[in-house]
Amino acid sequence: MMITAVAPTEDPPSRERLVPRYATYPTTALFRSDVGSAARAAWTAALPPGVVLSARLHVPFCRRLCAFCCCRTQRARSAGQVTAYARALVTEIERVARRLPNGATLKAVALAGGSPTILPVAAIRALGHALGALGPLAPGAPFGVEIEPHGVPRRRLDALLGIGMTEAIIGWQDLAPEVQEAVGRELRLDRAAATIADVRAAGAARVAVDILYGLPRQTAASFAATCAAAAALAPDRITLTGYAHVPWMARRQRLIPEANLPAAPERAEHFSAGASVLAAAGYRAVGIDLFVRPGDPLVAAADLRRDLGFWLAAPVDAALGFGAASVSRLPQGYVQNVAETGAYVDRIAAGDDPASRGRALGLEDRVRGRAIEMLLCDRRVDVAELEATFGDFARSVLPACAAAARRFPEVVRLVPDGLDVAPAPPAILREIAGLFDAHAG
Ligand code: SF4
Repeated sequence: MMITAVAPTEDPPSRERLVPRYATYPTTALFRSDVGSAARAAWTAALPPGVVLSARLHVPFCRRLCAFCCCRTQRARSAGQVTAYARALVTEIERVARRLPNGATLKAVALAGGSPTILPVAAIRALGHALGALGPLAPGAPFGVEIEPHGVPRRRLDALLGIGMTEAIIGWQDLAPEVQEAVGRELRLDRAAATIADVRAAGAARVAVDILYGLPRQTAASFAATCAAAAALAPDRITLTGYAHVPWMARRQRLIPEANLPAAPERAEHFSAGASVLAAAGYRAVGIDLFVRPGDPLVAAADLRRDLGFWLAAPVDAALGFGAASVSRLPQGYVQNVAETGAYVDRIAAGDDPASRGRALGLEDRVRGRAIEMLLCDRRVDVAELEATFGDFARSVLPACAAAARRFPEVVRLVPDGLDVAPAPPAILREIAGLFDAHAG
């Protein structure tokens, strides 16, 4: 079971025709306030003994905010604010742990941000202790932590490794000075390289670098140069993520004029330029936007999954989210915590569960959600496999398969049990996925 590139669990649409990233299906925009804390409690208590879990902890604080970022983050006002939030996280984890059945196992963990490396050492250790209450971390389980690209003090790295961190996830975004100036960010290659060296020296088993295409002033050549600089440092994984311009959701993006953004054809060109550089450097494409070194367990995964933004080599029974705005996936449906950090801390302090909205999953949601996951993981929809899991209702996706073949004849091929898609940019794969979305407008 592997994990990498912790994507936001909320689901801003990608810029291309506003098609969602499908971190969940249905997307978080369709969650309802009548599914919340009671559903979370009942659904968690109904998990079977021996359940296999993943856990994702959201730390929504950063030292400074980047104009392009659409994650739910805020500038940390004080050390006390971060510490109080970390205490609330510990309490939330411990309360959920008390509802779990015997024999639960953690097969993947992510500490996502924001900047989780802003946490003091004592808070990191307390979170590690709380995670242990959910269940033992399975041997070799991936434990990804988003690491500040400018570097992290060795004491904090040691504390993170001490609680099980295996993978350092480092957001480069773009190294071209003119692009960084346009998005309010500053990261030099020598500093970024030093951070990778530091996390390796400290003992991180895996390093992942995230790079963003679709930014202002980016060109195919500048994007390829950033990808080449990353590949030269040989991180284990590189993710090429499309910038999502959603200023109505992320107000800080109003600093980026829409007119300065590359259009959809240029975005596709930039992605392709980066993908070519990575292929030439020996990286293998996995899923929709991930590139890994040969021998990575995800390459040989027989049942690759993309669960709340996690890439996993095998499915888990439930994905538990902790912290403000976090999403949990339980067998019966999704629940999401209250998004505002102060409200989250207050709810925990009052003894309340912070889940405030969610979505119970019906049969159609499950069938369509799994079909979309197949597309984004394996570029296929296998209706026979869907039927084996969901019965005859699985055939309800056949019209969407036919529609995909009509709309994208250059990449979609109908096969007896569904469809196959030739290698294509993420925007095309998301548009095909959108044809399976019953709620797409
Ligand atoms: S890109 Fe990273 S550091 Fe910048 S605001 Fe987003 S989470 Fe914070």
